[in-house]
Amino acid sequence: MEQELKIVYRDYGIADRFDDGTIELNRNLDKYPELKRAIIQHEIKHTNNPRFNKQDLLHDLSTQDQVRTWHMIQFIFKNPKAFMQFVPLYYTKERGWIKDNNLIVIWSFFLLISLVGIYFGIVI
Ligand SMILES: [Zn+2]
Repeated sequence: MEQELKIVYRDYGIADRFDDGTIELNRNLDKYPELKRAIIQHEIKHTNNPRFNKQDLLHDLSTQDQVRTWHMIQFIFKNPKAFMQFVPLYYTKERGWIKDNNLIVIWSFFLLISLVGIYFGIVI
């Protein structure tokens, strides 16, 4: 369980935790120290488990507070590459294909809700 966490800066997305204990952060977060600290705290509490698991999903769904969400929205709109954070699957030279299981589950859920909505919208 005790493992050293390493922080690596990159210029897209917001933050990700990898199974080798590395946390990658968008370097522009340096301009948002409060948000950056909150994000690091958030990533530290994630597990290193690369598979989809309930613990990580619940952690992502339960740590949204209003202040952080507002700072996050500002950050994303001033740093458009941060939108990469919401892409569930992408490729990097350093790490190959990166898949975010939580995002895949969350997107599938929204897609399903939308399809059900469209279906009933058309049928009723
Ligand atoms: Zn998270």
